[in-house]
Amino acid sequence: MEKADHKTPVRPIEILCPACGQDTLLKREKVYEGFKHTGTKLSCAACGHVFPDEAKVPFKAKKIVPGFGRQDVPPPPKVFDEREVLETVSRLCRHCAHYVVNPFLQRCGRSNREVEATDTCNQFAPKTNPASQDS
Ligand SMILES: [Zn+2]
Repeated sequence: MEKADHKTPVRPIEILCPACGQDTLLKREKVYEGFKHTGTKLSCAACGHVFPDEAKVPFKAKKIVPGFGRQDVPPPPKVFDEREVLETVSRLCRHCAHYVVNPFLQRCGRSNREVEATDTCNQFAPKTNPASQDS
């Protein structure tokens, strides 16, 4: 399994300039000698203070927020095939002859346990009156 832990580092450009004391940005300019690229001029975007090299740049410490990788995305819900659903639905406690509903709880009249309408059990007995199944 491929891990997405190799991230392209984002160059921090927020700086705390020691010359002007501002919370500002780093300005990068390419320096040419004639047509030859000789380096990069690093300066404060606010006051123009030039930093001799990147190591001297007072970058603001960035908080690293752990990114959400692909592995955090929940897998798609299991798709039941229709026949499986029908078999399960037809055995739900709410369709069972033993299913007893009162305003406070639903229970199974056979096991006398509290049940959910969506429970199933192997003691399932179909209701004799299918017209009341959606009550
Ligand atoms: Zn500055």
